[in-house]
Amino acid sequence: MKGEGETHDIVIIGGGICGLATALALHRKGFKSLVLERSDELRTTGGAISIFMNGWYALDQLGVGEELRSKAILIKEIRDAWLFKEEAKVTPCSKEGLHCLKRSDLVETLAATLPAESIRFSCRVVAMEVDPITSFPIIHASDGLIIKAKILVGCDGSNSVVAKKLGLKSPKISPICEARGFTNYPNGHSFGDQFLHLWGNNFLLGRVPVNDKLVFWFVDHKFNQRDIEAREDPKLIRELTSERLQGSPKDVIDMITNCETDTLTLTRIRYRAPWHILFGKMQKGTTTLAGDSLHVMDPSIGQGGSAAIEDAVVLARCLGRELQPHQIAACGCRELKRKAEAAINKYVRERRVRIMSLSMRAFLIGSMSATSSWVKRMVFGVLLVLMSGKNSHGHAHFDCGHL
Ligand SMILES: Cc1cc2nc3c(=O)[nH]c(=O)nc-3n(C[C@H](O)[C@H](O)[C@H](O)COP(=O)(O)OP(=O)(O)OC[C@H]3O[C@@H](n4cnc5c(N)ncnc54)[C@H](O)[C@@H]3O)c2cc1C
Repeated sequence: MKGEGETHDIVIIGGGICGLATALALHRKGFKSLVLERSDELRTTGGAISIFMNGWYALDQLGVGEELRSKAILIKEIRDAWLFKEEAKVTPCSKEGLHCLKRSDLVETLAATLPAESIRFSCRVVAMEVDPITSFPIIHASDGLIIKAKILVGCDGSNSVVAKKLGLKSPKISPICEARGFTNYPNGHSFGDQFLHLWGNNFLLGRVPVNDKLVFWFVDHKFNQRDIEAREDPKLIRELTSERLQGSPKDVIDMITNCETDTLTLTRIRYRAPWHILFGKMQKGTTTLAGDSLHVMDPSIGQGGSAAIEDAVVLARCLGRELQPHQIAACGCRELKRKAEAAINKYVRERRVRIMSLSMRAFLIGSMSATSSWVKRMVFGVLLVLMSGKNSHGHAHFDCGHL
């Protein structure tokens, strides 16, 4: 059908965590949607993802929380240790609901719960326009396919085509990058249910067990010239990471040395400035954004993925309140447009405050680790305390509500 038009009620661009969660949330409300994904198959890169209580509330609404919880252990404490210092700070975190979930488990479970043919792979969207007659969106894919949609949700990540169309500025690139990988311990590891943060002079290491044999780790550091080459070469990522961690305890060095090289990735951190979220345009007619396309944030607070799943629940709820699934086909253009716009408007209003607050926290923590100026660190630190109060994980105790 290349070069010819297709029409779908709701089209979601991007089949990552957010696109799949949005399709599932809509499906639970009885809406049919089509996900357009540029990759040939489900993308599971990036190792694992921390999910806090807020993410679990949202996953429970999608009906996949219980299944996913069984795939990762509950983390009970966070240990902050410093290289060359004896003392460490241990913070209990059982109440935060923190699990480190393999991305493949999350994405595959979401996709498997969707009706057949909900996802169209190898479909890269290159442009969008507005139909001059109906004012609904028209989508152009790289193979010439044209798709008309009544509602369009851009879940196409940090380099979003839809966000650009809405006039949002491109996300900023942080000087920090993150190496990530898994290490398998066939006889079991000895790290229990503890999340370790090891702070070095030039790095932050995170080590978090997924289950009793598998550990996920990440190392944040300033991006440099050698990292450009390493992005294409997992063995070089391992070599550079080991070099960077010199002087760390033996179990940390062994973890890097024995990691699974095919799981290694090196990612530049991107973020949308919180003030762009506060003032940016999140809706144009019946087109909107969700997930990283709207609020890509520094991963320091481990909330980008959970926030994306919250978006999915809230968007589907707002649409469900304004529209019955059968009305999408039955309503006249004007009435449908009015109702869909009103629903998306409510979604945008509800989400702006929440994602602004998450993005601000992530921005402050990210800026603290990216700067070498003590003065700036202090200013960011004070702002963070003013924002978070005593509970640095307050953002995890948020319930986005029922679907
Ligand atoms: C280093 C790092 C660590 C992180 N750690 C955590 C964590 O611990 N906890 C957490 O909650 N979050 C974490 N995050 C954030 C989390 O990974 C993201 O917020 C989440 O993956 C966003 O999902 P998404 O679906 O919005 O975007 P993406 O995962 O980027 O998915 C976008 C999808 O759209 C597709 N696409 C893009 N453009 C097009 C196009 N033109 N046409 C068709 N398809 C397209 C892509 O192929 C992709 O599949 C981390 C992020 C980074 C970078």
